[in-house]
Amino acid sequence: MFSLAGKKALVIGIANEESIAFGCARAFRDQGAELAVTYQNEKAEPHVRPAAEKLASALILPLDVRDDGQYEAVFDRIRQAWGHIDICLHAVAFCPKQDLHAPVVDCSRDGFLTAMDISAYSFIRMVKGAAPLMRAGGTCMTISYVGAGKVVEHYNIMGPVKAALESATRYMAASSARRGIRVHALSPGPLKTRAASGISHFEDLMKEAADRAPIHQLVTSEDVAAFAAFLASRQAAHITGGIHYIDGGYHIVG
Ligand code: NAD
Repeated sequence: MFSLAGKKALVIGIANEESIAFGCARAFRDQGAELAVTYQNEKAEPHVRPAAEKLASALILPLDVRDDGQYEAVFDRIRQAWGHIDICLHAVAFCPKQDLHAPVVDCSRDGFLTAMDISAYSFIRMVKGAAPLMRAGGTCMTISYVGAGKVVEHYNIMGPVKAALESATRYMAASSARRGIRVHALSPGPLKTRAASGISHFEDLMKEAADRAPIHQLVTSEDVAAFAAFLASRQAAHITGGIHYIDGGYHIVG
């Protein structure tokens, strides 16, 4: 139905094979795209490198999104290797534990700024870095959560952070469209990953998602990945700026 053959994709946010980013990278590769993958730091590299090699990633590069120099180096390397890029996937989030577990009103300024920087601004930075390499257009995607628009117990400050991410998605979609660049947020239901394990009572969240979602089943990272691959394809050329729920319909009742 659709192919990503010949397309070049940058994927940030692989921690291990459970990561949403890993599932998306695999789907891009399976549809024919060539991959550039990043790891957060030296500690992450031994986990990310084997996963990236499994996907035959052409480039495996360091990137802590707080470091503008590293971001520039990633896009420089892509420019040298490929000359352009077609697909960028951002699947990165972080909040210091103490702030993540506190009611929003008790979030510290440092915690707020750190969570915003790593989880939201870094997507803006990604789109900015990718744009000059997307001369023939392209697709940028991030991963949000239903807690952006509704109060989800225990999601705390990540709700406002994801709300900022979603709003930035819409503004960037509007301003990038004339260059043929499409910008999306995917909003999956809960998936057991390392980042998710930092959220208190995550098991309850999963149970509630399965109980209340009209489809009454949890989503898988393959579900998210298949949708991401479609959005990256030529067939999705007239779709931009959306918050795409892949959650068994939970967002309409949750
Ligand atoms: P994950 O732990 O596998 O991925 C999170 C990634 O963020 C890791 O690879 C980590 O290295 C990276 N990261 C954190 N700080 C970074 C930094 N400073 N620089 C570079 N990378 C950094 O977990 P995941 O669930 O796959 O998370 C991916 C995205 O999906 C996140 O934005 C998360 O909020 C979102 N999301 C997850 C769920 C879920 O239930 N798992 C649901 C909705 C949205």
